[in-house]
Amino acid sequence: MAILRVEPLTTARALRGPFDYRRPEAMADLGVGSVVRVPFGPRRLLGVVVEVAEASELPPERLAEPIEALEAGATPELVRLGLWVAREYCSTPSRGLQLVLPPGTGTGSAGRTVRTKTELRAAILPAGEAALEDGERLGSKQRAVLEALRAGEMSSGELATAVGSDRATLRRLEGRGLVSTHSAAMRRIPGEPGLAAAAARPELLPEQTEAVAAIVAALDGEAGSDRKMLLHGVTGSGKTEVYLAAVEAALERGKGAIVLVPEIGLAPQAVARFRARLGDRFAVLHSALSAGERYDEWRRLRSGEASVCVGPRSAVFAPVRDLGLIVIDEEHDASYKQEGDPTYDARAVARKRATDTGAVLVAGTATPRPESWLELPRLELPNRVDGRRMPPVHLVDMREADPRSGPVHAETWEALEGVRTAGAKAIVMINRRGFAPWLTCRSCGHHWGCPNCDVSLIVHRHSGRLVCHHCAHSEPQPRACPECGSTTLSQAGAGTERIEKLLRERLAPMPVLRLDSDTASERGAHARILARFDALPSAVLVGTQMVAKGHDFPEVTLSAILDADATLRFPDFRAEERTFAMVAQLAGRSGRGEAGGEVIVQTLAPNAASIEHAARHDSAGFLELELERREVLRYPPFSHLSRVNFASEDEEKVDEAARTVARELRLGLPKGSELLGPAPMFRVRNRHRRRILIKAEDRAGMIVAMREVVEGRAADRSLKDVAIGVDIDPQ
Ligand code: ADP
Ligand code: ZN
Ligand code: ZN
Repeated sequence: MAILRVEPLTTARALRGPFDYRRPEAMADLGVGSVVRVPFGPRRLLGVVVEVAEASELPPERLAEPIEALEAGATPELVRLGLWVAREYCSTPSRGLQLVLPPGTGTGSAGRTVRTKTELRAAILPAGEAALEDGERLGSKQRAVLEALRAGEMSSGELATAVGSDRATLRRLEGRGLVSTHSAAMRRIPGEPGLAAAAARPELLPEQTEAVAAIVAALDGEAGSDRKMLLHGVTGSGKTEVYLAAVEAALERGKGAIVLVPEIGLAPQAVARFRARLGDRFAVLHSALSAGERYDEWRRLRSGEASVCVGPRSAVFAPVRDLGLIVIDEEHDASYKQEGDPTYDARAVARKRATDTGAVLVAGTATPRPESWLELPRLELPNRVDGRRMPPVHLVDMREADPRSGPVHAETWEALEGVRTAGAKAIVMINRRGFAPWLTCRSCGHHWGCPNCDVSLIVHRHSGRLVCHHCAHSEPQPRACPECGSTTLSQAGAGTERIEKLLRERLAPMPVLRLDSDTASERGAHARILARFDALPSAVLVGTQMVAKGHDFPEVTLSAILDADATLRFPDFRAEERTFAMVAQLAGRSGRGEAGGEVIVQTLAPNAASIEHAARHDSAGFLELELERREVLRYPPFSHLSRVNFASEDEEKVDEAARTVARELRLGLPKGSELLGPAPMFRVRNRHRRRILIKAEDRAGMIVAMREVVEGRAADRSLKDVAIGVDIDPQ
C-alpha cells in the first residue's frame, strides 16, 4: 500500500508537515503534486502530496485516507521547486507550494473556487452536409448554423456570435440528426491588450543571428555551449526579436519556454508581439487576469496545449512542459523581486529551475546588473537596428539653475518647443506622482504630514486630496492652515501632475498624456494610454518610471528626465545601479526613428558615475567601476545579503525584539558574516520599524541561522505584537 506524504496548505507557521495518509485503490493515480482534501483531527485541510512512500512510521490503522482530490495539481518538478523556494527564502512549505499550484487553490479547508468551465460544441454530420447540398427544407437559422459548421466545429457561444443562433436551433438540428454536440472544456481567453503587433518575422541582422545561434547551440546541447547567458544589447538593438527566434527554435525542438517580463502592464507591446507570433502556443499568466482566465491559461500549459508562458515574476512557476528555455527580459528590473513572503527573486528561481530541468537561460537587458555582468557569459548586440546611433545625451546641471524658474529647465523647454515645431513626440519623466510633494503654511510653517507615517502628504490636484504614498491615508486638500488660519499655503516641489499642467500650458495645442499609477490604475488603462500616444501624430507623454520601460515609439525625438538623481539619494547600495539603469533606459526611448533624437538629463549630481556613464551609453564602463566598488565594500555579488525587518505599534517592544534577534544572530551566523543594526526606519502605518542587515560569505550558513532565529521568535509569545520578516537578497 502506498503512503502519501501530504504538506498541508495553511497560513500557520507552526503546523509542520508532511503528514502521512493511505492511498486508497480508487485514488491510485494520485502522485507527487496532487492536491487533496484530507481529514486532519476534527478538521479538513487541503494539502499537496510531496512524496509517495512505501511505508509509514505509523501503523496503517492510524492512517486516514484523503477525502477527495482536486481537479488539477502541480508536477513533481514544480513541487521540488516550491519547496526549494520555501527553504531558500526562509518561508514555509505551504507558501512555497502555493506558488506552483493552480491559481485559486486556496488554503485551510477552503477548496478551489475556480475550475474548468465547459461549453457545448457542435459539429456537422454527413446528413447535415447532404441536407445543405440536396436543398432540403431548413429554417433560415438552421441553414446558417449548418453553413457555419461546414468550416469546422464551433461552440454554441461562437455560433451565437457568428450567426445569431440559439441553443434551441442546435437542439432541433441534433434532433434531426444533422449535427452532433458534446460538452468540452472551454477556455476563458484573456482580453487583448490595446496594442496590436505585427506577426511579421524580420530577417535577423548578423549580430542577432549570432546570438540566436548561440542559444540554439545550447538548446541542442552542443559541447562547449553555455547554458546560461546574458544578452547585452542597447535599447532598440532587437533583443525581443532574438527572444522570439529562440522561443520558436525551442518549439521546433518540441520544448516549451517561459518568457519573464517586468510588470505585465508595463510591457503590453512585448506581450502583444509574442501573442501575434506564437498564436495558440502562447499563454499569459498575470494577476490582472480574472481567476477563471488565469486558471484556464495555467491548465493549457499544464496539459501541453500551450507551451510558451509570458508573464511577470510569478510566471517563473508556470507549469510549462518539457521546459527548454527561460528568457528574462529587462533582467535589471526590480519587479522580479517579490516583496511579500516568500521574498523570492524570480531571476534566482529561474536559474535554479533552468539548472534542475536542463533548460537554457537567457537574461537580456541594455543595463545588466553587476552580478549578471560578472557571472554570465555575454552575447552582445552593440548597435541599434537599422544602424541608428544612440541619441546624444545632454546633462543639465540644476545646481546652477534659478530655483524660481521651476522644475523644467530653460534648455529643456527649448527642446520641447522644438519637438512641437517639428510635429514630433517627447517623453518626460519625473520620479514622483501627484502634484507637489510638500504642502506648508507660508505664515506659520505648518507642514502637512501623514498621521500614520513619518512622511509628507503629497498634493493630488486631480482628486483634490492630500495623499500618503505609504499607507491608505488621504484627506481633502485644505484651504486654510489649521494652526493659524492663513490661506497662503505653499505647494513646493513637483510631481507628474504638476509637470503635466506646466507642459499643457506652455506647449498647447500639443496633447499631453500622463502615465503613472494614478492614471493607469484601471485594468487596461496603461495599454490604452500608450496606444493613444502611439496613434497621435505629435504628443508629449509625461510620467513616472513607467514611461521609461520597454516601449518602442519611432516618432519620439526627445526624452527628458527631470530629477535624475532622485534615486541616488536613497541610502541603498543599489542606488548607483538603479540610477544608471533608469537614465540609460529613458535615453533608449528617444531617437528610434528616422528623425533621430536627443536626451536631456536634469540633475543635481552631474558628476555621479552612474549619470556620467549613462550619458555616454557606457554600461561596460559603469559596470566595471561599480563592481570594483562592490568588491571593496563587500556587497553582492561579493557577499550575500539578508535583512530582518521588525514592525510594531509599540516602540519599546520593537526595540527589544530587534536587539534580541541581533544578539542571537551574532551568535548563530557563520564566520565571516557581518551584522549591521538594528537601525531605526521611518514609521509607516503607525508602526515603528527597525531593520537588521546581514552580509555573509557563507550563504547556506546565513540562511540556516536566519531560519532558526525567525522560527524561534515566531514561537516566542512575548514578541507576539512584533511582526518579524526575513528578506533574503533584499533589493
Ligand atoms: P529591444 O528589445 O532590444 O529594445 P526590439 O526587439 O524591440 O529591441 O527591436 C526594436 C525595433 O526594431 C522593433 O520595432 C523591431 O520590430 C525592429 N526589429 C528588430 N529586429 C529587426 C530586424 N532584424 N530587422 C528589422 N527590424 C527589426
Ligand atoms: Zn499656518
Ligand atoms: Zn501614511
